[in-house]
Amino acid sequence: MSSKVFADTAVHIAAKETFFQTYQEVRKVQGLNSLEQLWAAYYTYLGNDIFATGLLFFCLHELMYFGRSLPWFIIDRIPYFRKYKIQDAKLPSNREQWECLKSVLISHFMVEAFPIWFFHPVCEKIGISYEVPFPSLKTIALQVSIFFLLEDAWHYWFHRGLHYGSFYKYIHKQHHRYAAPFGLAAEYAHPIEVMLLGFGTVGIPIVWCYFTRNLHLFTICIWITLRLYQAVDAHSGYEFPWSLHHFLPIWAGADHHDEHHHHFIGNYASSFRMWDFFLDTEAGNTAKLNRERKAKLKGEKKAKLKE
Ligand SMILES: [Zn+2]
Ligand SMILES: [Zn+2]
Repeated sequence: MSSKVFADTAVHIAAKETFFQTYQEVRKVQGLNSLEQLWAAYYTYLGNDIFATGLLFFCLHELMYFGRSLPWFIIDRIPYFRKYKIQDAKLPSNREQWECLKSVLISHFMVEAFPIWFFHPVCEKIGISYEVPFPSLKTIALQVSIFFLLEDAWHYWFHRGLHYGSFYKYIHKQHHRYAAPFGLAAEYAHPIEVMLLGFGTVGIPIVWCYFTRNLHLFTICIWITLRLYQAVDAHSGYEFPWSLHHFLPIWAGADHHDEHHHHFIGNYASSFRMWDFFLDTEAGNTAKLNRERKAKLKGEKKAKLKE
């Protein structure tokens, strides 16, 4: 089986015995940067595009999720950082982290490992490209920004929905086990929640490409990596003077999501603050007081109108 990784159909490179030999062959193709050469060599060497995409996404997920959680695990053990901890009295115990790690790993292997192998056939059907060369940086940045905005809206509404009655009791409660979250707890959730909220990350690019016919698999890799970083960081439990929301005020960050875990209500969005701000669902004591003040004013206005 050979790969269809080259956009230029005149290029025919057969897989060699080792990955390195294949890579050397690919390097002879003109006009590819180092990342594109590695990408093309990977697909050519494996020679099975379904397997190559599945393996790539499985490894990317594991590497980026656990790779991003590790620094937070280390920071939890360094007393210097304690002053930046949002809920400073609540450091996760080793046992809590171990339980969480086991559950996340089971979810990765049992829930996510299967649909991942259908990803490539879906990509081919919808027209998501995996050929080299990659799209321009400008296209990648624009599409990733759009995915951030769309995912945030999806996450806001479905996460808010998960806080209603039975949905909370039977599905979302698991994610709220940790009132003071830590990085690794980002994906600690019921399988139904993993699928539902995961659709915002994986399904939105697929729907986007269905309508625009313009998306590259490499862009999805960048998007998933950044979205995983966002989710892990939002659960880190740390607020620094250099946290992103100080420079980009609409960015949510740990400060925003920690309040959600602490109060169990409000701050439903994932990446940005605008949905909670405009729909009056912000969490925390200040937000609660603001809401009460607004409700009181509204009541007074109504009473005046009746007089
Ligand atoms: Zn919640
Ligand atoms: Zn959370």
